[in-house]
Amino acid sequence: MAVKQKEHKPLHLAKLNIKKGDTVVILTGKDKGKEGTISRALPQINKVIVEGRNIVKKHIRPQGQTQQGGVIEKAMPIHVSNVMLKCTECGERTRVAHDRRPMGADQKKRVVRVCKKCGKVIQDRTRSS
Ligand SMILES: [Zn+2]
Repeated sequence: MAVKQKEHKPLHLAKLNIKKGDTVVILTGKDKGKEGTISRALPQINKVIVEGRNIVKKHIRPQGQTQQGGVIEKAMPIHVSNVMLKCTECGERTRVAHDRRPMGADQKKRVVRVCKKCGKVIQDRTRSS
């Protein structure tokens, strides 16, 4: 039996419990203990970019005539296991549960994120309406 070339597919495309706009606490690295807001979620690699945190200075060499050399500061992605969501309701760092609850104007049951500490629905700051 011919062995197919292995594809690097993720076992499951994990849905991140953390979304853009969430406040998180950083658990590791030089920004340990600091809070920040998610500016970008990267579910493909299970990482998030926290605004103004995990900043790395990058030295850029001049490339031809188009790019100037110098130092730029860049927020590097942090693995989701290294941050913890801060509950919008009780302000505690928490893990997230999922639940179906009636939400919105029509009170239709929707899957929401629930704080494991206080049991309240964690507000999704990017969701419109
Ligand atoms: Zn809570």
